[in-house]
Amino acid sequence: MATLDYFRKEKLPHIWCPGCGHGAITGALVRAIEKLGLDKNKVVIVSGIGCSSRAVGYLDFDTLHTAHGRAIAYATGIKLAKPDLKVIVMTGDGDCTAIGGNHFIHAARRNIGITTIVMNNEIYGMTSGQYSPMTPTGMFGTTAPYGNVERPFDLCKLAIASGATYVGRGSAYHVPLTVDLIEKALMNDGFSVVEALSGCPTYFGRKNKIGDAVQMLDWIKDQTVNVKAAAVMAPEKLVGKVMIGELHNAAAPEYAASYKELVGKVQRRYDSYVGEVRECASNSD
Ligand code: SF4
Ligand code: MG
Repeated sequence: MATLDYFRKEKLPHIWCPGCGHGAITGALVRAIEKLGLDKNKVVIVSGIGCSSRAVGYLDFDTLHTAHGRAIAYATGIKLAKPDLKVIVMTGDGDCTAIGGNHFIHAARRNIGITTIVMNNEIYGMTSGQYSPMTPTGMFGTTAPYGNVERPFDLCKLAIASGATYVGRGSAYHVPLTVDLIEKALMNDGFSVVEALSGCPTYFGRKNKIGDAVQMLDWIKDQTVNVKAAAVMAPEKLVGKVMIGELHNAAAPEYAASYKELVGKVQRRYDSYVGEVRECASNSD
């Protein structure tokens, strides 16, 4: 199957602005699916609300474009009802970590088999550039005209601390790395998170005077260091740098499988109870 076969061609061209990083990240997901040779009919992709969440409209799988922040909640229901499906969430920094923050940490805590791709452009793009919980301190947004005074989440650390079993960070600049991380995330049975640094030249780039789309990609490149390279670098060279690469890979029981096992156990107890009741009833006849 060619890469384009994973797209709903009739829905193209897309609505993203020229130079938006979300296209490269959506492409990385499709390439990872293609490399793994996943059956289109066994993949469900769920999104919330925002520019990143528009991706599902272009992808030719069973897709669900849901409510703001609730993609993981919908995906949890799908995974529990149909544990054999590969369930993927596409979300943005605002959608996932503000209104969707609770769903995110509890999905990680349960280690449910969902792969979550967080396109982090450090701003609410669709609603015109408000700062999000992942906007770095001091950066500008339409609701932070004098600079953001809040501290941002480190999403990967949050995911690891909450219990996710696969965590990595890529970017719209580092596409081969992002494909590789998504591929490994899809292979992991439990809750997997790939944060992909994305560029929003229209709002974040303009508000922060970073420049055009190409300059935004350079800006991403300059602030990142691969975790393998970082291991042999002097600490002072790492100040202000963002780690990319595979950050966590651990084993733990997957929630939907544990839940299915529990349902089986309860069903067996119920069946044996019903059997005993029937036997008592026939003996008393
Ligand atoms: Fe991308 Fe920003 Fe345009 Fe949204 S507003 S499509 S995030 S560049
Ligand atoms: Mg965003």
